[in-house]
Amino acid sequence: MAGSRRPGRNFLFVPGPTNVPERVQRAMIVPMEDHRSSSFPDLTLPLFEDMKKVFKSRDGQVFIFPSSGTGAWEAALTNTLSPGDRVLAPRFGQFSTLWIDLARRIGLDVQVQDEEWGTGADPDRIEEALRADREHRIRAVLVVHNETATGVTSDIGAVRRAIDAAGHPAMLYVDGVSSIASLDFRAQEWGVDCAITGSQKGLMLPAGLGIVCVSPKALAAAKTAECRRCYFDFADQSKANAAGYFPYTPSLPLLYGLRESMRCLFEEGLERVFERHRVLADGTRAAVKAWGLTLCAREPKWYSDTVSAVMVPEGVNGADVIDIAFRRYNLALGAGLSKVAGKLFRVGHIGDLNDLMLLGALSGCEMAMQDAGIAIEAGRGVGAAQDHFRRTIMAKDRRP
Ligand code: PLP
Repeated sequence: MAGSRRPGRNFLFVPGPTNVPERVQRAMIVPMEDHRSSSFPDLTLPLFEDMKKVFKSRDGQVFIFPSSGTGAWEAALTNTLSPGDRVLAPRFGQFSTLWIDLARRIGLDVQVQDEEWGTGADPDRIEEALRADREHRIRAVLVVHNETATGVTSDIGAVRRAIDAAGHPAMLYVDGVSSIASLDFRAQEWGVDCAITGSQKGLMLPAGLGIVCVSPKALAAAKTAECRRCYFDFADQSKANAAGYFPYTPSLPLLYGLRESMRCLFEEGLERVFERHRVLADGTRAAVKAWGLTLCAREPKWYSDTVSAVMVPEGVNGADVIDIAFRRYNLALGAGLSKVAGKLFRVGHIGDLNDLMLLGALSGCEMAMQDAGIAIEAGRGVGAAQDHFRRTIMAKDRRP
């Protein structure tokens, strides 16, 4: 869209950044103010508490950094680990790959568990690796909850049970960048020591906040952790945050936006937000099936309710579908990244959206696929998604 006006509603269906609700946009139009004033903590202190509700954490401490999700990855690792520390990390998509790369570049010793792309973290293999680590050299297990590149969700509760079954003291760090505030996430119940997210997906904001919820165990580890850090130092943050301030100039619009986006989430109710994502994802999957195509996610247990990665038939370049959708139909779809470049396109069904919006996007997918030479019968997938939405919405209407 950059540089040219496109009339009407633009169809943003990448899996982040997501649509920013109008009331959140309005909440961000604020005059600048003194971030050291005596009233500033009235804005900030509730943000930390409310974010804990989003993470479903009782004991954790929330840090809100002016960064994207990548900065939050770095903050979690550098604050709690030392160079040479070993971490165990399943790798099954572009974002798990990038997190591993970051961990290596800050000096950690990463024991990688490669899984097939289209699958996710394997709790049995994690348990096995931890049992084999008799000296308890592995300090942390790093798992991407929702691998945005392949549309795969891993079972974090099962990973926690695997760590416990192995009787291993490793901490559990979870990337929830494309799951938190859209998929059920339970930092406390799952014993997540660092839960990581960014503002531009389930939180329905522009990119610019990297948020970490840190357990008491990880905070204790921070006291002796020797990785180099400065801007992201938990200790500096903690000291300033305790009184409602930051050790630097925060982004006021984003903080006001975060307040409003959490109001939206709590008004709808987190459980309803998760259910809405499930319904939208099921509708998308019904469309994919009706097109005669498959998802990158190998089995239903891996299906993501925030993003569907649709495999294109042999001989078709997924990048063409994406380019046609964007140029001709004003529909932004997610690209295939790295190993799956050209092999798929991704439909993001995350954030502030509903069934009719998604039907518009699925219709755009059909047109773009036809233009790219894929034999799709017009309306087939859209019809299947409509049927699904009508069934689920009618079922809801019958509820007392
Ligand atoms: N982790 C996941 C699962 C993501 O989807 C992304 C970005 O899409 C990131 C991490 C990186 O976050 P950011 O681009 O906000 O730095």
